[in-house]
Order: sequence, then structure tokens, then C-alpha cells
Amino acid sequence: MNQMMTTTVVMGGLAPQPTMSHDEALVEAHRCLMCWDAPCTRACPTTIDVPGFIKRIANDDLLGSARTILESNILGASCARVCPTEVLCAGACVLNDLHERPIDIGRLQAYATDDVVFGDIELSVESVQSGASVGVVGAGPAGLSCGAELAKLGHAVVLYDARRQPGGLNTYGVANYKMDMATSLREVEFVQGLGVEIRTSTAVGTDVSVGQLSADHDALFLGVGLGSVPPLGLPGEDLGGVGDALDFIADVRAGKVDLVGERVAVIGGGNTAIDAVSQASRLGAERVYLVYRRDRDEMKAYPHDIERALSSGVEFIHWSAPIRIEGEGSVSALVCERTEYSSDGDLVSVPDSEYRIPVTMVLRATGQEKRVGFLDQFDGVETDHGGRVVVDDAFRTGNPGIWAGGDCVNGGKEVVNAVAHGKAAAMSIDAALRAAAGK
Ligand code: SF4
Repeated sequence: MNQMMTTTVVMGGLAPQPTMSHDEALVEAHRCLMCWDAPCTRACPTTIDVPGFIKRIANDDLLGSARTILESNILGASCARVCPTEVLCAGACVLNDLHERPIDIGRLQAYATDDVVFGDIELSVESVQSGASVGVVGAGPAGLSCGAELAKLGHAVVLYDARRQPGGLNTYGVANYKMDMATSLREVEFVQGLGVEIRTSTAVGTDVSVGQLSADHDALFLGVGLGSVPPLGLPGEDLGGVGDALDFIADVRAGKVDLVGERVAVIGGGNTAIDAVSQASRLGAERVYLVYRRDRDEMKAYPHDIERALSSGVEFIHWSAPIRIEGEGSVSALVCERTEYSSDGDLVSVPDSEYRIPVTMVLRATGQEKRVGFLDQFDGVETDHGGRVVVDDAFRTGNPGIWAGGDCVNGGKEVVNAVAHGKAAAMSIDAALRAAAGK
């Protein structure tokens, strides 16, 4: 039988990372032109009503402001910290066209959500319980978003995650200077407060079978992300001190890394590479190198993050590809050769250009594996030639009872893209469950 429930989420106790003072927030909010067609909102994958939440800050209505954000993006607190706002909402701000500093939307969003997610302000959600249950595989941003929206719509939700802590990349894979682990975990608690159950240290296929999941739930959502960064196949890659940049970031977040006196080389040109070098530099490594086989303007990392890494002392080595790692027991040097474009436009090695970089640590940040083997457990769930889960416009897979979203579908994008997928899939799952129940 359907039952009306009111869930009141009250958090408190832990101070978040500093965002803005009250006065600073008011001054910044009053700079906003409150554009009626708000390009900043259109640039946000979760279409947060940016002028709406900023106006409420200007009016000293923080709860209203937080509600505006969280209605569109339940992970609005972490997105405020980890989103590349410079290329999304703030990048679209009309003040850029007027040659003025764009509104600092990310920090205003963090300011507005802090008091709800981390403070003592209450957020109540009323929902009619549907009696249906949804299993979500993966407690990262996509799974949390999908689970939170489904809980708000009155469905019972259980998230399953193999790791010891929930939150996915927000907990394990973000550089500390963007968001610390405690902040991610507090936001997860906020989602749990909406009625979402999370079972950690529970690997699907090992601790719980896919058959059991199908029997226990009326629908499934896969937000399983991507796998580890695979070995490059270089001689010496098994030496001590060689590893995956994402594991390195997770170890840093767990407080397990001391880099004083270390010389670190990170191979790659994307956001993980930049996070790893920036993190290593901030931890006091003696020298930090980013080794990339092409030029800077071909790197996938965002320009503002590249600038930040350069200003923190990271040395960029372009037009270089690693060919082996040297050392006895542990790494002592990364050996590279120079690269260039041939007349046909192919990237080729420069003959006799081999050189050594003396290092004590080498980290791979050359792209994560797709989880095709894991996904094969789910009947009817297909992957494309790139290993991404194939879904329709409503994020439904080839199995009508299974939806998917986030990195396993888009191949690896921003947290906010994963949140948008989870939310859209939740709407589709809700519609399907209600149709099946004849409501
Ligand atoms: Fe405010 Fe800039 Fe958005 Fe206009 S585009 S509403 S000025 S943040």
C-alpha cells in the first residue's frame, strides 16, 4: 500500500573546506545580472537555476538557495568543488563578453550548499512510497544521484559498492586540494539521509550475485564507472615505485603518502595526470614531471588546471614518450624518446633521441580500462566497440529492467555529467515502475 513519508535530513558537526565569507558571498551575488535566458544554466549538465540560487543568496535566503541547487543536482555540494566551472557555467557567464570577471558560480554554490549538506539546516522531502525497490550497482556520483532521485520519488533504493567507502571518484579519485575525502563522505551521508541504503564492501558477482540482485529488486541501475589504468607494457614496469595515478591519489587521500625527497614522473595529458602532478607537488616532492607525447594545446586537461600545475612548480616535458623504466628493485629513471609529427601527420619517434629522467616514482595516467568483463554478467547489457555501455535516450540498456549511466556510458567525463545521467535514468526508471504497476 502506498504511504506518504516525510524525510528530514539534518546534518551537523563537521566544518567543510572554507568557501566564502557571508560578506564576500553577498558582494559576489549582487554582481550577478540575473539574466533571464541564463547561459550559465544552459551550460550546466544538470541545468541548475543559477540566477535563481544566486538571487536567494543575495536575499539572505540560504535554505531557498540550497533547495534550488539540490532540486536540480543532489550532489551540488561536491560539484561546486570539483566541476570545471571555468568551462561550464562560469565559462558561459555573460560577464565574459563584457570583459569583466565572470561570477564565481562554483564558490557561491559551495557557500549555498554548505549549510544544508554540512550544517544544521533542515531539508525535508515528502514522498509517496511506491512499494518498488531499485538496486544500484556503484555508489559513485551516478549511482548516488540515481538513488537519491528514486528515494525522493518514493522507491526503496539499495546501492552496492565493492569499495570500503562510498562516493566513488569523489571519495577516492579527486585531488585533495579540490575536495577532501571527509567532504565527499559527508555528502554521501546527506544522500543516505534521504532514505538511500548503501552496502559497501559488497562486490556484485562475488559477495552478491546478479541473480540475487534481479530477484531482490524491480529494476537495476549500473553506475559502475571505469576500471584501473592498465600497464603500458614498458620494460621495468614491475619495479617498486611504478603505479596507477588513481591509486596514488587514493593513497594520498588516505594519508598514506610521503613524497619528501621524491622525484615523480606522471605519464599522460588528461585530468588525472594533472591531478596527480598537482597533488605530488603540493605534498613536497623534490621534482615533479608531467611527461606527454604531444604539445600542451593537445592535452585533454583543462587549461586552468594546467596553469595551476605550472604555477605549483610542475615541470612539463612535451614531445616525449616513455620506452622503459630503469632501476634495481625500485625505479631510478624513466627513459624516454622524443616524438614529432611526420609529414603524414602521424606521431613518430625521433631517431637516436633517447634520454633519461632520474626519478623515484612513475605514475601512469594514460586512461582507465572499461569494465567490459564485469558488465558481461548482466544479460542483455551491451557495450560498443569502445567498451561503453549502450543505452537509449532514457539510459535504458538492451535489458528492459536495467539502466546505466555515468563514466561506464560516456567513457569518463565530469562528476556533473554522471549526476545528470543518474537523475535522467531515475526519471525513466520511475516512469517504467509506475507503468508496470498501472499507476
Ligand atoms: Fe549571473 Fe553570469 Fe548567469 Fe548572467 S550569465 S545569470 S550574470 S551568472
